[in-house]
Amino acid sequence: MIIHKCYICGMDIHTKSIGLNASTMLEKNSTNALLNCPFCGVSNQFFTVLDDDLEGLVMELSLEAKSIIEKAVKLEVFNSTFYEEASERVDCKILSVTFKELSKIELMHARIHMRLISMDKPPVLHKPDYSNRETDYAFIKEAEAREKHAITFYSKNVENINIEKVKKVFEALRKVESEHNSIMSTKAFELCQVQNQNINELSTEIG
Ligand SMILES: [Zn+2]
Repeated sequence: MIIHKCYICGMDIHTKSIGLNASTMLEKNSTNALLNCPFCGVSNQFFTVLDDDLEGLVMELSLEAKSIIEKAVKLEVFNSTFYEEASERVDCKILSVTFKELSKIELMHARIHMRLISMDKPPVLHKPDYSNRETDYAFIKEAEAREKHAITFYSKNVENINIEKVKKVFEALRKVESEHNSIMSTKAFELCQVQNQNINELSTEIG
């Protein structure tokens, strides 16, 4: 059953999708309270606030705005591929799931921007060498730096977007990245320490 439509990413939210990507959210969705879009992470205020579609705005965008949105596509694809790679390289299972889900959310953000400028295919970007990140902590720190960069990007560039609806998209996504940043800077390391502690206790018990 479709219960809402997210006007930022355009996805229909079904009752069965409520719990998707929960690790990327500070407050989790439940059947009684749908707080965030499970696909792009924006707050539920955007389920109704933009009353018509974001498609077809490309003709009204200034050249500067278009070029900013192209950069936003790259930034989100770059972060999505980072998270995908990171999810495969970290030891902590909880962190791996969080990274995998963040990868999906950031890819959805790239799609949101692509839709705004009618771009069909995401750009293929140069893949950095991640082999020098040796610990889970190094990946958490990098994730934090990337989220901070994204927040700055949206805050700085929203000023030069000439369409109000697109400004709202930037503001909505900036908030999502702030939430990701909080998870990375406060919760991620803690969660893995708890997991490690449990494993240690378990192995002590087993002997
Ligand atoms: Zn959404």
